[in-house]
Amino acid sequence: WSSENFSWTKKLEANNKKVFGNHSFRPNQREVINATMSGYDVFVLMPTGGGKSLTYQLPALICPGITLVISPLVSLIQDQIMHLLQANIPAAYLSGNMEWAEQQEILRELNSDYCKYKLLYVTPEKVAKSDVLLRHLESLHARELLARFVIDEAHCVSQWGHDFRPDYQGLGILKQKFPNIPVLALTATATASVKEDVVQALGLVNCIVFRQSFNRPNLWYSVIPKTKKCLDDIDKFIKENHYDECGIIYCLSRMDCEKVAEKLQECGHKAAFYHGSMDPAQRTFIQKQWSKDEINIICATVAFGMGINKPDVRFVIHHSLPKSIEGYHQECGRAGRDGQRSSCVLYYSYSDYVRVKHMISQGSVEQSSFSSGYNHSNSANSGRILETNTENLLRMVSYCENDVDCRRLLQLVHFGEKFNSATCKKTCDNCLKVKSFVEKDVTEIAKQLVELVRLTRQQFSSSHILEVYRGSLSQLVKKQRHESLSLHGAGKHLSKGEASRVLRHLVTEDFLVEEVKKSDFYGSVSSVLKVNESKAYDLCNGRKTMLLRFPSSV
Ligand code: ADP
Ligand code: ZN
Repeated sequence: WSSENFSWTKKLEANNKKVFGNHSFRPNQREVINATMSGYDVFVLMPTGGGKSLTYQLPALICPGITLVISPLVSLIQDQIMHLLQANIPAAYLSGNMEWAEQQEILRELNSDYCKYKLLYVTPEKVAKSDVLLRHLESLHARELLARFVIDEAHCVSQWGHDFRPDYQGLGILKQKFPNIPVLALTATATASVKEDVVQALGLVNCIVFRQSFNRPNLWYSVIPKTKKCLDDIDKFIKENHYDECGIIYCLSRMDCEKVAEKLQECGHKAAFYHGSMDPAQRTFIQKQWSKDEINIICATVAFGMGINKPDVRFVIHHSLPKSIEGYHQECGRAGRDGQRSSCVLYYSYSDYVRVKHMISQGSVEQSSFSSGYNHSNSANSGRILETNTENLLRMVSYCENDVDCRRLLQLVHFGEKFNSATCKKTCDNCLKVKSFVEKDVTEIAKQLVELVRLTRQQFSSSHILEVYRGSLSQLVKKQRHESLSLHGAGKHLSKGEASRVLRHLVTEDFLVEEVKKSDFYGSVSSVLKVNESKAYDLCNGRKTMLLRFPSSV
């Protein structure tokens, strides 16, 4: 697809320079354009900042007819349209929160004999829920004025993805109604299973897939144990490594954002907070101050980030556990767009896992800004979505618990990419620290821990199980008479880290299930371990062994 002998090549080159002001194409841009202009359905996985917009805006400009772009977020659409109009490319958008008269005017233009628009942007519910748009598309199609469908942020189609939007599932109708119109699906985050899901839901046929490495060599990754002094640690980290530089601190709750910002201000940083319950004017104000470097540090929920194109973000800090590896990768991706070295630091504590899990089950986690049109937060999540979210979260936990494997490898494996950790060149904490590792058979320990959960009637937390296993005589252990259990102290010879890593592994691999309980009347959250008997069966019967890597300290 990289040929420069297509009938449109000359036109392509000329317009790329003249209209878009680019000297050349970036990786895969030419290939994607050639494939979609040849009439194929195309699926593109390109990291944020890779230049996805050009792959449909350039074809839209040189093909006859109109390109329909489905994009999840009005503010992003507006930003795109502004750029297109500046380049003299006629473009418009339709969304539910526009004045009716304004919508009418655009629809009228679509009906006119020679429709002037090259691109029409719509939000997904316009396709899923409105016959009006479909009727106009039919009319355009009949007049051979329908060039192409573009699905931006295509991973929103998939329930396995981290940004599922129900309205995106209705987009399959486009291929049903217009089977011969090429579809171009674009995303910056998709695992193999998400990709399959998207291709199927959209009804893409003989789809051509372009993907490029999601590795970001200039980002340095590390995971640091989160303690009570976390905020002091963050302050120190910034002062030592990124003083007066620009960064984002992702926090779990709105209150956390405010707390972290306040603390950093006290420590002399130019910090502010940003979250979903601030009014839009206030948010825009903060965002502007940040772009102008009047504020260095934004303490934000994941609502902050989409469409933010600041090239010199030097650090992204996660104050608590991200909800998925995909989300984490995307949030980190906002650092270092200029290619300069930048830090991604995650503060991890297992208790945050319990907290995030509880918030997910309550549906009270703030979503990334894609979801602004679709309100998760009023209803508790349920069923398959809850399961997927929990699974995504567990993967994130095992990422954090892993102190052996290259962070890049761990992330890229998740995107179905092969990666040789030597390529990391010690730019992540694990590669830096681990000189070698040993693989240990932990089957016996795993079996004992599962058995201990059964013996305590599946009513205790992981930290209690660990205490009993390592022979503690704490008050709670005595009160429950757990010192008399046969397995009390069975793991005495192990270090706490070792035993707890096996226990976490049992949870992340689904042998044990963590059930969240709202315990006392202060509403604090705790969780108890249960045995997933169907999964644990093979392990307990010796049909399955469990191997874990441990660093061998040199
Ligand atoms: P994405 O949607 O993949 O995150 P964008 O389409 O927003 O990326 O492009 C990111 C930036 O790269 C934009 O500022 C765009 O103008 C620029 N860009 C895209 N393609 C090229 C190119 N071929 N040469 C130079 N700059 C480009
Ligand atoms: Zn590494």
